[in-house]
Amino acid sequence: MGAITLKAVEKYYGDLQVIKGVDLEITDGEFIIFVGPSGCGKSTLLRMIGGLEETSRGAILIDGNDVTADPPSKRGLSMVFQSYALYPHMSVRDNMGFSLKTAGAPKAEIEEKVNEAARILKLEPLLDRRPKDMSGGQRQRVAIGRSIVRAPTAFLFDEPLSNLDASLRVDMRYEIAKLHQNLAATMIYVTHDQTEAMTLADRIVVLDGGYIAQVGTPRELYENPANLFVAQFIGSPK
Ligand code: ADP
Ligand code: MG
Repeated sequence: MGAITLKAVEKYYGDLQVIKGVDLEITDGEFIIFVGPSGCGKSTLLRMIGGLEETSRGAILIDGNDVTADPPSKRGLSMVFQSYALYPHMSVRDNMGFSLKTAGAPKAEIEEKVNEAARILKLEPLLDRRPKDMSGGQRQRVAIGRSIVRAPTAFLFDEPLSNLDASLRVDMRYEIAKLHQNLAATMIYVTHDQTEAMTLADRIVVLDGGYIAQVGTPRELYENPANLFVAQFIGSPK
């Protein structure tokens, strides 16, 4: 399960309103991408869904349960950031199993889940390596692996590929698409890369100054942009 509903969600930093009445229904298993110019509120909205930022007004529901006041640990979501904070001196295996270990999971279960995630992400040959001896792309796969191990209700990604070089970014985009197919999990993904958005998304949410300018499939947005802002952002000919 991984249906996420946003009801008239708003965010203020002091007097500054950065999220303005956002309504959105994300269905279980959907790949949703937030795009929009820098400062439009993509990260803030994602962090509100994850519980890392307080919601000033409105409600967030996961599978019908109101989680607006719940801490991140009670929401069952996994977040992957561009700055993947792995433990540099711990093996990949231990990095990936760490959250289960601290949660008190039995050793056999940790091993099984780490092996399963390593298989999906083709990290098996790297399980005994340390992140400090790995490339950026490999580290990013470990960061994603670490989030899979926790079997989250949904994955939240904030520009996970933006620190990688261009060719690696294309490879990782393909990895993420496969991951979504394999896990059939809900994914909410922030990017400012139009190609990433157009190739990965079931639906794209275009944000403009804290508002939703348009929501639709890549094709709907391309063929029928609601306004000039969306057209320019998506790069459609209109
Ligand atoms: P994006 O991820 O789309 O680039 P953000 O969600 O990071 O945008 O930021 C949205 C707006 O909120 C920006 O104007 C930013 O300056 C402001 N903002 C973000 N975090 C804070 C904060 N902790 N305190 C005050 N303003 C913030
Ligand atoms: Mg951001």
